[in-house]
Amino acid sequence: MAPVSTPAVLLRSHDYGDSSRILRFYTETHGLLSVMARGVRKRSGKGATTLATFATGTLTAYIKPHRDLHTMKDFDCTHFRDGLGLDVMRFAGASATAELVLAHADQEQNPDLLRALEQVLDTLQSVETAQVPAAALSAVWRITKAFGFAPQLDPCVCCGEPLADDSVGRFDFASGGVRCARCAEDAGGPRLGPIARAQIANLLACELDAEFTYARRHLGVLSDFVAYHVVSKPLKSLHFLGGLLPPDEGIGA
Ligand SMILES: [Zn+2]
Repeated sequence: MAPVSTPAVLLRSHDYGDSSRILRFYTETHGLLSVMARGVRKRSGKGATTLATFATGTLTAYIKPHRDLHTMKDFDCTHFRDGLGLDVMRFAGASATAELVLAHADQEQNPDLLRALEQVLDTLQSVETAQVPAAALSAVWRITKAFGFAPQLDPCVCCGEPLADDSVGRFDFASGGVRCARCAEDAGGPRLGPIARAQIANLLACELDAEFTYARRHLGVLSDFVAYHVVSKPLKSLHFLGGLLPPDEGIGA
């Protein structure tokens, strides 16, 4: 059987037996792919260091149809992201991103997902410290969008009318977006004013606001949205990230 080579990002690895490791990659040609790297922990030098989580490279593997676990031949790493491991909030953002991809991706090709993954991991590694909370939330929103679940921020999910610039609506998780003030009267869900809506739009577009506020409230909306539409329960790494975010100051939307 001939091996297959594909661009790939390493999302997770764990030891198996006394010398092997199971690695989970997001790949260009086969989507989410699990491989067994036999004997990799007995190799010294290059073999060990190139298996760094969140790194990009070329994965070469023997892929058998209708199997869940394949056999790695080689991972030639071209782009390390060591900086993600040096800062707990950057690492938490990357972990939440990886957890979401691992929980929802399948073996179908999704070029936008691979592009988004590379982009958000690079941003998480390189942004200034003050922008890391926004970068972490943006990463998970962007991946959610790549799965096809972008929230509808305007027009209203209920009546279809455009939201007025000063309208304070509510986030309706079941409907996948924002209700205008009129339709929100008897509805639950968190209040969402024009600033918060603009901030979510920017997070989805990977545009980081210089002044990002209410990070914890944003995390609550994101976590509930992802749990409702993409995965069936809240992501553990988002909960962990929540404990690291700066407290929200004051009240308002
Ligand atoms: Zn409405």
